[in-house]
Amino acid sequence: MSNLDEALRDIYHEVLGRNAGETEFHQAVREVLDTLGPVVAKHPQYTDAAVLRRLCEPERQIIFRVPWVDDEGQVQINRGFRVEFNSALGPYKGGLRFHPSVNLGIVKFLGFEQIFKNALTGLPIGGGKGGSDFDPKGRSDGEVMRFCQSFMTELYRHIGEYTDVPAGDIGVGGREIGYLFGQYKRITNRYESGVLTGKGINWGGSQVRTEATGYGVAFFVDEILKTTGDSFDGKQVVVSGSGNVAIFAIEKVHQLGGTVVACSDSSGYVVDSKGIDVDLLKEIKSVRRGRIQDYAEERGSDVRFIAGQSIWDVPCDIALPCATQNELDRDHALALVKNGCRIVAEGANMPTTPDAVKVFVEAGVSFAPGKAANAGGVATSALEMQQNASRDSWSFEHTEQRLNDIMRNIHDRCLETADEYGTPGNYVAGANISAFTHVADAVLALGVI
Ligand code: NDP
Repeated sequence: MSNLDEALRDIYHEVLGRNAGETEFHQAVREVLDTLGPVVAKHPQYTDAAVLRRLCEPERQIIFRVPWVDDEGQVQINRGFRVEFNSALGPYKGGLRFHPSVNLGIVKFLGFEQIFKNALTGLPIGGGKGGSDFDPKGRSDGEVMRFCQSFMTELYRHIGEYTDVPAGDIGVGGREIGYLFGQYKRITNRYESGVLTGKGINWGGSQVRTEATGYGVAFFVDEILKTTGDSFDGKQVVVSGSGNVAIFAIEKVHQLGGTVVACSDSSGYVVDSKGIDVDLLKEIKSVRRGRIQDYAEERGSDVRFIAGQSIWDVPCDIALPCATQNELDRDHALALVKNGCRIVAEGANMPTTPDAVKVFVEAGVSFAPGKAANAGGVATSALEMQQNASRDSWSFEHTEQRLNDIMRNIHDRCLETADEYGTPGNYVAGANISAFTHVADAVLALGVI
């Protein structure tokens, strides 16, 4: 706390007092405040108009009951959330997470991050996030459908293509977006494609949206490599997770010439020194909804499955945490640095603890925060909204090129801003400052609302 200047320290205390027990939210706010000292010193108008304090308080927080009936005929009750955090730049935009760990603090941390991430894309989208403590694991298709229908029966009244546009996140993929969109369409009697993103290609979705977050992370790392005239060629990469973000990060790293030698799920990790077979991984994790251990068993004897240990012990040049928040701590960071890792880019949201970030920065590792490195997903969601609004659909190649351009712009803006504010090469400061000034100017322009 000592390095926060007085005005920022007061804001942080206000956040702690007003949001007791929401540790992930505190962490996300703290990480942004830590980098904004030079900005508030240079631009007193932001402090005078309480811009930061307004950004730390969601515009609206919705919590609701989600009753549904399981396959045994038992009534189940879950809790649903939607936090509409800031709409200065456009309609609230951010995913829905279905996972037993979801609570208001988690949704607020994700929604807060989303404001800045969305601003970095340069596209007209505000920040929001939502979800439920529902656990889709082990549930039948029918149960997932009934849950989604009940969830949307409340959520529909709060969303709309000009109001709030949810998408997927952990536990919410194409199947869930389909059930949610179907129920929205039924209740409202409107084919309002722009109300949700991550839709199927043949019913309003965009090419590349499924791949976008993971591809975007790989594009971002490619830009980092290019700053020193380097490339993915010959690089060993470790990717945590084996969900949507991880799978497509692996696919694009391979296309760009790197080799992903390990990936994981919540039960453990696999090491495959020849390079992860991404088609087999997709089949097991996305189609069969199986476990990562199945990958090791089906791929053959050279591949090891290690239960319950840290994937960050696997030596690599580049680490891409793509699973969940706070999955990479100080000890993991020390192990990565010791083994020669030079670049870390967050595919997940806030997967690296503050202590671990410090280790990377002090060791001279290039560290790309999630709000910059994983912004490709929401950016492509905004491209999906553009296509829906103009009743158009773009080719894969065109959409991927747009994604690549957006990631390059985000990368360059982070570096330029870091330079401008006296922290060259610091992607965390560059991302936070660039995003903050972009949103803050819009907040100021719209008056006290
Ligand atoms: P998925 O549900 O598709 O995949 C999550 C993966 O992470 C699964 O393989 C899961 O394993 C694994 N996992 C979860 N908890 C742990 C843990 N404690 N240790 C190891 N592995 C774990 O989610 P996504 O890929 O969509 O999201 C991953 C991250 O990326 C999240 O932080 C999300 O917020 C972020 N993100 C996602 C975007 C998107 O477009 N989907 C956009 C931007 C950010 P298991 O199968 O065992 O549950």
